[in-house]
Amino acid sequence: MRYVAFWILMAGAFARATGAESPRNFTLLLDFEGSHSPVSEAALGAELHSIVSLSPVPIRLQVLTGPLQGDVPGSLVIFKMKGSCTMQPTMPVGAMSDERGPLAMTFMANGEMLPFANVDCNRVRTSLERILGRGASRQHEKQYGTALARVMAHELYHMLSRSSVHDEDGITKKALTSRELSEGRLLFSRQALTGLTR
Ligand SMILES: [Zn+2]
Repeated sequence: MRYVAFWILMAGAFARATGAESPRNFTLLLDFEGSHSPVSEAALGAELHSIVSLSPVPIRLQVLTGPLQGDVPGSLVIFKMKGSCTMQPTMPVGAMSDERGPLAMTFMANGEMLPFANVDCNRVRTSLERILGRGASRQHEKQYGTALARVMAHELYHMLSRSSVHDEDGITKKALTSRELSEGRLLFSRQALTGLTR
């Protein structure tokens, strides 16, 4: 298999605490379209681990480094990481970006949530630049990785709960501010954790 596992997320504390046995387990596959930073990637893994370790379902994270071959444990969920996933992107001269719009999106077909999401790395970076300043560079890669992980966790909730409903608090709010994306601690609400067991 030509992909590399860089983080293993085993059954979470929630499942251990309740003694619940989930028949479902998932492999999250990250497919980076462009450049990405090892520092932000490590921060992404650490933050996602922190968030998902409290979830009731076992989730494993892998980075795709070539064509997917062979078996993947559990159900596959793919995150296409679009754009440059670093705070120091190589941007084409004259490129324009729209600061409005979603940071990521999931898809439905025939009433079913598909196990596939797009993360717009450029928009996540633009969101952080609102509080860090434009051209914020390598000292903020860690915060950027944290923000990517929170965006992914939000979309993961939609996919695993098969729901487009949002919460009043936590990572499944309808919109997260730049500070909520990158500062403090942000977790799944209790309601969202319940939704993940559906
Ligand atoms: Zn949402």
